[in-house]
Amino acid sequence: MRPGKREACGVMGISLERGNISPLIYYGLMALQHRGQESCGISVYDGRALRTVRRYGLVGEELQRVARALGGRVGIGHVRYSTLGGPSLINAQPVPIRMGGETFSIAHNGTIVNYEQLRDYLAGKGIGLRTKSDSEAILRIFLDSYRRGCDVFGSLESCSERIEGGYSMVMANSKGELIAARDPLGLRPLCMGNSGNSIAIASESVALDINSLTLIGDVEPGTAVFVGGNDVEVERFASCPRRAYCMFEYVYFSRPDSILEGRSVYDVRLRLGRNLADTIDGDIDSIVPVPDTSRTAAEGLSRMTGIPVAEGLIKNRYVHRTFIMPTQEAREGAVRMKLNPLKSVIKGKRIVLVDDSIVRGTTLKNIVAMLKSSGAKEVHVRITCPPIISPCFYGIDISSRSELIAANNSVEAIERILGADSLVYQSLEGLIDAIGLPRGDLCNACLTGEYPTPMAQERAEEDARRPPSQIPSGMEGIWRA
Ligand code: SF4
Repeated sequence: MRPGKREACGVMGISLERGNISPLIYYGLMALQHRGQESCGISVYDGRALRTVRRYGLVGEELQRVARALGGRVGIGHVRYSTLGGPSLINAQPVPIRMGGETFSIAHNGTIVNYEQLRDYLAGKGIGLRTKSDSEAILRIFLDSYRRGCDVFGSLESCSERIEGGYSMVMANSKGELIAARDPLGLRPLCMGNSGNSIAIASESVALDINSLTLIGDVEPGTAVFVGGNDVEVERFASCPRRAYCMFEYVYFSRPDSILEGRSVYDVRLRLGRNLADTIDGDIDSIVPVPDTSRTAAEGLSRMTGIPVAEGLIKNRYVHRTFIMPTQEAREGAVRMKLNPLKSVIKGKRIVLVDDSIVRGTTLKNIVAMLKSSGAKEVHVRITCPPIISPCFYGIDISSRSELIAANNSVEAIERILGADSLVYQSLEGLIDAIGLPRGDLCNACLTGEYPTPMAQERAEEDARRPPSQIPSGMEGIWRA
């Protein structure tokens, strides 16, 4: 287990023509809150120095109050999710590092696969790491080239030569410059927007919308954006033999009102639902989505089949997403706190329950049981993502096959474990059709076991050789069910 490196975060960077930048970063982080709820932070250049504030927990009033006092026209922000050992404030971002007379601060979304190699490489140069965050390692590698006279793009090129993994990142420095870069595969999203001479970079376009900025487009893989004074430079720093956009951003992680690679996430999810229409047979009374991610797919399925959507599960919106809770215990408790069945909608009904994906199976098992105990006559589960059978090493918290119910059970066995009357997954073809990008431009590694980078492939094969008995604590109930 590698503490502090399993993140699925959100980043934002803005260089403003005039005015105070901090409220804009704050609003942007509010729009990206779904990408990480453990800690948040802002670094702002106030005309004299780069100042950083970080807070544990949600983007809230305290961060807003502190940020407002910072002022400044250039800055970056971050919301963070991590797992073991990672939630401490020391690993929160942005990470500021002082070098010579200058300070750089980084906010990063993604995971570096060869973190240990980078750490050893830096140690060999006498450069120690203060945190367990791979973001610090990226910045130290960058600064190692920068201090030797490379410009920003040359320093990013050095990073790309040493780093394997996903990195969509923004940096600000004490010269008031803003830098953004995306890894050569484009694993994690990053987009750019503007308004007048103001430039913004964000994980998702919703962070631009909230600030009334216009989406220009995605930062291309292997490409960096440099904003300094009145100059804006967009330059490729690494060759990109292929793309590997994460399919899971469309299925689950991103907000439906975001645009990724020119595709509306909402439209993709409608098509994901539509593509499940052929899996419905027999008499069904209603389609019930697992809120919130699956609502759009349920709508798509309803439009194709004519079966009405019913809100059979009411969500307590003040309880966070279970998948991104750091422990199994927290996840199980959160399911019960989060969802309440609406008995008047469910009782006596044959239901198609639509969910976006099954990772561990914990949530869905509890939901099916809740629906049945509320009087549902039948519960037929339809999943908009194909079975997840392999870990993710690029920034989504799917760390081992042993956690994955589909890696260790047949569909029939999972159906029994869940207590469902039937279970059908989306096909890989259906997923690719719904996203509308060429298969070769997507990362589907957690569905196929075929990774776009060599070390991740090795790690997955190593993980697959581990005996299935090494089930993380807290999962036993599910596997024995
Ligand atoms: S392995 Fe899966 S979750 Fe990870 S980047 Fe690839 S598609 Fe996304």
